[in-house]
Amino acid sequence: MTVRVATLGFPRIGTRRELKTALEQYWAGNSSADDLLSTAASLRASAWQRQKDLGAEIIPSNDFSLYDHVLDTSAMVGAVPAIYGNVQGKVDLGTYFAMARGSQTTSEECGCGHAHDTPAAEMTKWFDTNYHYLVPQFAADQTFRLASTKAVDEYREAKALGIETRPVLLGPVSFLLLGKCDGPAFDRLDLLPALLPVYERVLNALRAEGADWVQIDEPCLVLDLPGNAAAVFKTTYNTLTAAVPDLKLMLATYFGALGDNQGIALSLPVHGLHVDLVRAPEQLASILEKARPDLLLSLGVVDGRNIWKADLNALLDHLEPLARQRDLILAPSCSLLHTPIDLERETDLDADVKSWLAFAVQKIEELHTLARALNEGRGVVQTILAENAAALQARHSSTKINNPAVQTRSADRNPALAQRHSPFPARRPLQQASLRLPLYPTTTIGSFPQTTEVRKARADHTRGELSSEAYEAFLREETARTICWQEEIDLDVLVHGEFERNDMVQYFGEQLSGFAFTKHAWVQSYGSRYVRPPIIFGDVSRPKAMTVEWWEYAQSITKRPMKGMLTGPVTILNWSFVRDDQPRAETCRQIAFAIRDEVCDLEKAGCGIIQIDEAALREGLPLRRADWQSYLDWAVESFRISASGVQDATQIHTHMCYSEFNDIIAAIGAMDADVISIETARSRMELLDAFAAYRYPAEIGPGVYDIHSPRVPSVEEMVDLLRAASKTISPDALWVNPDCGLKTRKWPETKAALLNMVAAAHYMRP
Ligand code: GLN
Ligand code: ZN
Repeated sequence: MTVRVATLGFPRIGTRRELKTALEQYWAGNSSADDLLSTAASLRASAWQRQKDLGAEIIPSNDFSLYDHVLDTSAMVGAVPAIYGNVQGKVDLGTYFAMARGSQTTSEECGCGHAHDTPAAEMTKWFDTNYHYLVPQFAADQTFRLASTKAVDEYREAKALGIETRPVLLGPVSFLLLGKCDGPAFDRLDLLPALLPVYERVLNALRAEGADWVQIDEPCLVLDLPGNAAAVFKTTYNTLTAAVPDLKLMLATYFGALGDNQGIALSLPVHGLHVDLVRAPEQLASILEKARPDLLLSLGVVDGRNIWKADLNALLDHLEPLARQRDLILAPSCSLLHTPIDLERETDLDADVKSWLAFAVQKIEELHTLARALNEGRGVVQTILAENAAALQARHSSTKINNPAVQTRSADRNPALAQRHSPFPARRPLQQASLRLPLYPTTTIGSFPQTTEVRKARADHTRGELSSEAYEAFLREETARTICWQEEIDLDVLVHGEFERNDMVQYFGEQLSGFAFTKHAWVQSYGSRYVRPPIIFGDVSRPKAMTVEWWEYAQSITKRPMKGMLTGPVTILNWSFVRDDQPRAETCRQIAFAIRDEVCDLEKAGCGIIQIDEAALREGLPLRRADWQSYLDWAVESFRISASGVQDATQIHTHMCYSEFNDIIAAIGAMDADVISIETARSRMELLDAFAAYRYPAEIGPGVYDIHSPRVPSVEEMVDLLRAASKTISPDALWVNPDCGLKTRKWPETKAALLNMVAAAHYMRP
């Protein structure tokens, strides 16, 4: 029996972020489409060659994308909403990027005498990753046609380089399920009969070019599916396999267990099935028992979502008996899109931490080692296996990871730790007495514009070109000016502006123990936006106060209340690569204690209002409903631990950047914050529904203007919103604020909008 190595997708961005540079040059008009396309081609060529050199035998094509693979799929099937024009032939670059990023056309360019401002397609998170895709939009009478030959072109391109690839397509069922209806809702799966002929054409074309296998991704098979899913999948795959009988399909599932959809997956007439054995190792036994003997299994045994070395010896113990019985493919659990490319570039990383990690390149090497051990015996890779065991052992017992004091503290399960002294109704009069705020108090969410000067000063300081003293002085001046201006326009609760922060998670991670930061470990967030998530490798503690000095400085400038601003434990966790040697809940709890110490120190310094942002609480929700409650339980408990060390008179705020609260509103209430600010300006009706159905126990600041756009809302508009809000939320519990931080805005629009916002609050006051 033979074991082969496959990858399901490789990072597109290039080891030196070449794709970002090429895209931005092109968008700025500094380079031609040909320049962009030739950079893209060379990135593909080197990714293919790299994977081949590393020992991957089954190499993907069409996993590359200039922007997003879901957008590529929309382009492939001609699902271009009418606002982007009546596209007849191929979807060209202009249309593609208009869908990705929106576009402005001047009246001359258009020729119709009007300027057009076309918004980008909606973007949302790809399953539970931090990658965002462009949401396909379907009309009830949607038609499809072949409008991009990218899949075939890239297959041919690889072939010309001497590399045989397995093209990747996003499967038709997942594609439809990931989209949304334009207008009144209808069952998107009703569009399958119209969609499948395009898939048939693409598959036929790939077969004609010589492809034996195609990887067809149906990650929706790990989700809770509608009742007709079984029938839908069956019809779809019967149709596709009948239409292209001599092409083999590898149905790829990832990000979780097939669970109740396992029967569906195993019943389909495909030749291969990829399953995620990192998220769901337990599913292997029943898959082996029920799979057709001729079904080629692709086992996702190396974590495509995280950056830790795999335990090769333990994997071999499991795989050896299996590999004696059937041919196998070994692969990462999912596309390597979600990992950084090459650990070797991290020359400044702590050597011990580095020895515990594996990025995309190293993960393929791990798979290659496993395959060799299975095909030829462990002896041929003895040294590598011994090194792997030693690294894992060293990690396990390292003093860099283990902090007994943190472990003891976190093991204390005393429920009082997650409990304010008194319930909200008792806290409230104490807070009112000490803060003495007017009705409809005004505030902002924390950050003020991070101007070019602010970013330049930070970059200069990081590069050593600006001394720490000069940088500090610059930040202090910026802060002072921002505070004076807030006073001038009569905001009630002030913020310091967060100019000293590079990022709301990184800023704290850099001051906590147990975190490591990389120089080059970029991962695509969306389009040309990449992030470098912190790595939480060890027990988390807070060696010293992180924000108290800045708060003291800020409060010294004004008599009005100055908010202390912190990022909450759940958000820090969800935006990091998290250690895999203990439950996420445990890591979150440790961070919660570190934040709790900061909250207490702020209070001790005299801070009476402390905001703990939980921007990413909702996005940590598990993919399956059945798993939601246990996540929400520990997430809420962590927040409460961070917030509960203070006196009743200290007011705890939290902030969340989204408005879909309906399904988790009880958990939001259970966080027991005194004030919550949330995004609502773009979707106020949704918020009001949630808060009408559930009486939120504390005070609320429903964002009255959308900070994601430079548009300045009028006083009347904000008064209208406040009036609407005061129908569901008692006026004495209403705060007035924008719906998120202002760091991405420019000063002129910020000033104009906040002036109007204060005027709206004044107007509302009796
Ligand atoms: N306090 C942060 C800010 O104002 C919150 C950012 C966020 O919620 N994403 O920037
Ligand atoms: Zn926000």
